[in-house]
Amino acid sequence: MNSIQHKIEDLRSQLHRYNHEYYTLDAPTISDYEFDQLLAELQSLEKQYPEFYDENSPTLRVGGAITKKFQTVVHDHRMYSLDNSYSKEDLLDWETRIQKNIGDEKVHYFCELKYDGASISLTYENGKLLRAVTRGDGSQGDDVTQNIKTIKTIPLQLTGDYPKKFDIRGEIVLPIAGFHKMNQERIAAGEEPYMNPRNTASGSLKLQDSGEVAKRPLQCLLYQLVSDTPICETQEEGLQKARSWGFHVPSEAILANSIDEVMQFVDQWDVKRHSLPYETDGIVIKVNLISNQMELGYTTKYPRWAMAYKFKAEQVSTQLESISYQVGRTGAITPVANLRPVLLGGTTVKRASLHNADQIEKLDVCIGDVVFIEKGGEIIPKIVGVDVSKRTVFCQPVDYITHCPSCESELIRSEGEAQHYCLNSNACPPQITGKIQHFISRKAMDVDGLGAETIELLFRDGLIRNYADLYTLQKEDLLPLERMAEKSVDNLLLGVEASKKIPFERVLFGLGIRFVGQTVAKKLAASFGSIDRLANATKDELEEVDEIGERIAQSVVLFFSNPNNLQTIQRLKDYGLQMTISADRLAAQTSLLKGSTFVVSGVFESFSRDELKAAIEINGGKVSSSISSKTTYIVAGKNMGPSKFQKAEKLGIPLLSESDFRALIAVK
Ligand code: AMP
Ligand code: ZN
Repeated sequence: MNSIQHKIEDLRSQLHRYNHEYYTLDAPTISDYEFDQLLAELQSLEKQYPEFYDENSPTLRVGGAITKKFQTVVHDHRMYSLDNSYSKEDLLDWETRIQKNIGDEKVHYFCELKYDGASISLTYENGKLLRAVTRGDGSQGDDVTQNIKTIKTIPLQLTGDYPKKFDIRGEIVLPIAGFHKMNQERIAAGEEPYMNPRNTASGSLKLQDSGEVAKRPLQCLLYQLVSDTPICETQEEGLQKARSWGFHVPSEAILANSIDEVMQFVDQWDVKRHSLPYETDGIVIKVNLISNQMELGYTTKYPRWAMAYKFKAEQVSTQLESISYQVGRTGAITPVANLRPVLLGGTTVKRASLHNADQIEKLDVCIGDVVFIEKGGEIIPKIVGVDVSKRTVFCQPVDYITHCPSCESELIRSEGEAQHYCLNSNACPPQITGKIQHFISRKAMDVDGLGAETIELLFRDGLIRNYADLYTLQKEDLLPLERMAEKSVDNLLLGVEASKKIPFERVLFGLGIRFVGQTVAKKLAASFGSIDRLANATKDELEEVDEIGERIAQSVVLFFSNPNNLQTIQRLKDYGLQMTISADRLAAQTSLLKGSTFVVSGVFESFSRDELKAAIEINGGKVSSSISSKTTYIVAGKNMGPSKFQKAEKLGIPLLSESDFRALIAVK
């Protein structure tokens, strides 16, 4: 190696090390002055010899790169949200669900603090930071690598025995002291102060000038390794390793052997959190054994192996001025409190959810009362109590509405239901627009060029009365509408046309059948194959499908017994929407495994667990999550849970290896 190159690389590795010692370990071994000298030397060499450019050089920490538009990147591994719990009972329920899945094997929990900032996914390859992507909608986010490189606690070059390629997840936070300092400077400069550390941290990730990001005292706290093949056996070990490679992993976490011990950790941090340098809004409890985590898997939103425990939120009081009633797409009525505006956790709150009539009764709230509100897990805050001492003679008891605020039909509340409903589904305006809005939404038909407001506009102008009408829209009808330039009209029509290619399962989800969410729609599409077969299915046939219970079956039958719905579906068919599963899927479909129920356990070589489950279903088999006498086979991969193994043995259920399984479905 040329001696200049050697010098440059030597400086880089020294600076990476000093940086880590200073920012992550908080234990510098050289003075700031010496550090600045080395950095300046490297900067000047890099300038002089651009041929030795390195995209992960420590000089990039100062920023400077400008990003005009952040590229969208699809996450290799989905970034899930966390399920929330608020009490010991919630945690015990969770434990029961876990044990149902993994058997009576003892579960250990790794308890971490829940850092309140913006989540980030970092990809490392050969020890170098390759990419940093925001959570986005969980399946795709923005590439913010240039900005992230300026955060000093993020290693650009790892040390030690790291895997060749992996992702690590963390939270970008703005420590409270740094936040206050930034605000003092802003105030001094005559600028508006920032609202709260969390919003400022997440706003920082999307600044166009990385030099600005570099000036902010952001930190990245890491909490999860993610990779195709497991890197470690436990959550605890994973984090220890990450720390040894140079990541900033906070050390407050503990291993708990029972929910009681988890609660001790919660209670301790509920108090101590106020002395932490950054904000936390709870703790995160994770099943420690990675093999258990894999057995438990994920719902569409959350890992089943992790749970957030939210600390009690900040409370403020304000006056309840009035109640409005909203009508959802299913006709459900939701009362919403209109409040005298008040500042809560950095944002001004004007409205709060009241959920339903029972809730109002339970709170015993009157119009005009002073109420306590707090932010829970939801975005919209809730009313948690009434300050009865402030009640005056002017306060009015709530007279819950009896008729729909929109179409005036009488509201119905069925036995066992919390919500009142307007049953006039085919003529009640918010239900009509709500259904069409659901139909075009991203997870359903994903119609480009058409948003919620346009739907309302089209409905008001009498152009659409149900989702099938979208396919009859003509350019000349749309052009005269307000805010509809030729370009937007073209986009809208193209978007509608393109939606005809959306696969059947998403069309089915888009129809808005009550209780038929994305997962159920997928199951129904795969089991029945076409809308006609589904429409003709009896309640019993529906209930035969894995995970379809009485409530869903009833709702599906009800939907297809409504002549209006059948007519709309016929129209959608005529317009050319996908009303059967695709030919590819159909061709792949067999009934080789019909009548067999499978439990999948462990890790596999040629399938991900989801692929394996899909392979079972497409071949007519059923997948179940727990072993019982009804299980036909267990497909056992590496690291199969010991409790499952014992249970299988006890019940005499045959185990299939990955290759046995492939033979069963005749894949070579
Ligand atoms: P929520 O946004 O309330 O659904 O909570 C999920 C988010 O909590 C994740 O996306 C992470 O960004 C964040 N989080 C903070 N600390 C942790 C932690 N220790 N483990 C997992 N997630 C965490
Ligand atoms: Zn109505």
